[in-house]
Amino acid sequence: MVHIKNYINGELLEPASKKYLDNFDPSRGKVYSYIPDSDEQDVEKAVAAAKAAFPAWSITPKDQRSKYLLKIASLIGKNLDRLAQAESIDNGKPLKLAKTVDIPRAAANFHFYGTGILHYAAHAHSMEDTAINYTLRQPVGVAGCISPWNLPLYLFTWKIAPALAAGCTVVAKPSEVTPMTAYLLSELCIEAGLPAGVLNIVHGLGGKVGNAIVSHKEVPLISFTGGTKTGAHIASIAAPMFKKMSLELGGKNPNIIFADCDYDKMLATTLHSSFSNQGQICLCGSRIFVEKHLYDKFKKDFVEQTKKMVVGAPMDEKTRVGAVVSKPHMEKVLSYIELAQKEGGKILCGGKQVNVGGEFSEGYYIEPTIIEGLPHDCRTNQEEIFGPVVTIMPFEKEEEVLMWANSTVYGLASTVWTENLTRAHRVAQNIHAGIVWINCWLLRDLRTPFGGVKSSGVGREGGFEAIEFFTEPKNVCIKLK
Ligand code: NDP
Repeated sequence: MVHIKNYINGELLEPASKKYLDNFDPSRGKVYSYIPDSDEQDVEKAVAAAKAAFPAWSITPKDQRSKYLLKIASLIGKNLDRLAQAESIDNGKPLKLAKTVDIPRAAANFHFYGTGILHYAAHAHSMEDTAINYTLRQPVGVAGCISPWNLPLYLFTWKIAPALAAGCTVVAKPSEVTPMTAYLLSELCIEAGLPAGVLNIVHGLGGKVGNAIVSHKEVPLISFTGGTKTGAHIASIAAPMFKKMSLELGGKNPNIIFADCDYDKMLATTLHSSFSNQGQICLCGSRIFVEKHLYDKFKKDFVEQTKKMVVGAPMDEKTRVGAVVSKPHMEKVLSYIELAQKEGGKILCGGKQVNVGGEFSEGYYIEPTIIEGLPHDCRTNQEEIFGPVVTIMPFEKEEEVLMWANSTVYGLASTVWTENLTRAHRVAQNIHAGIVWINCWLLRDLRTPFGGVKSSGVGREGGFEAIEFFTEPKNVCIKLK
């Protein structure tokens, strides 16, 4: 079985402790590789390497930094099949999804920032004939990047690529639940000839490795994606140290369906926005509000289509819903289904763990689940479940549905279905969320600001926002007379 290694100062290394953690294949419920159980010593080494590499990397001309990033993008593309297979085994997601979404997007992240950095320009402010100000954007230093398990390589590279493009060096930690593709990425970085110490990847537990990165005094900037509780903990350490922080946190996204929508498009997309990646995408619409006179028709069709979704082994072409990521996560999702019933919810379909049989009989599978009959303010409708579980609720008035949609502590994404142009703009304006999709879902332009409001996070990723996060502005004022 593979023993994953840390990537520090250009080398693949064992953890200082020489200890390893079990890595599970969630589709089989079995250990299939080992993860370095790294600690402060490994982080210390990684930060020292990143610090030593920073002066040279930060003044490496942009077009050369760009070449490294583009080379890595191309290597990810060349290794698409291998990486997709690894992601699917590590995470439980359908192979098809890893092949069409996760891995292409990881390559796109490097490509986007490898080219984007060439087009970035800072501002100048003229004071007519008195003075001129120009803004220098200088890379901050060693960036700490911490990512979750749901879109492993996709989200890991979404942080690393802009950090490197901006001239920062990086110490990164993928989720210990899904470390494999980050390990394969370190091999590709070596193949691409990335200078030693520019990117360092330390594997291990959040409480040890993550904590050590966040609290390290030589890491002035933290880019984190994960749960809201972890984000609050990270902020409590990093804020008193005056670190720059970007926090991309949880969500409880509303999907608002008006009766005048393009019904077939809405139905097909709502199946995706509810159950893609087993509902483990921070952008999934988990609360579905349907205008009252469309409700019964929608309910019938949505349940019928959901029942047809094949739950099965990730490698199987027919599979639409693979395994959820881990046993504790499966238990958490099932406990929410139980809670929903206690709160008076009626399960319209799904609701149970599935045994898909054969060598996958120990895997962590849950039927896609639809629940109705719950008020907007119960726990099931307020707390993040992060699994293949949605609730459906009828509404009568726009003001009412907006109030319900905005009633959680979260504000990441939202989806609105209507053919009424005026209403679309009005609702978009009044939703408390960082992202509003009208008549679509997960349509992404990497230039746009990405992030949430309220407990869904602080700051924005994407486009030049990320370049600005990884650089510090410095105003230079020159008197002309
Ligand atoms: P966690 O918050 O549990 O973990 C995220 C990362 O933080 C992991 O690498 C984890 O390591 C690490 N970590 C855990 N504890 C600490 C700590 N004390 N100090 C530093 N790092 C730590 O989230 P999940 O991995 O469970 O991911 C799911 C969550 O991520 C959901 O809430 C989801 O909504 C959110 N998410 C948000 C997105 C967004 O863009 N807003 C996108 C995708 C997901 P380890 O795994 O080793 O514990």
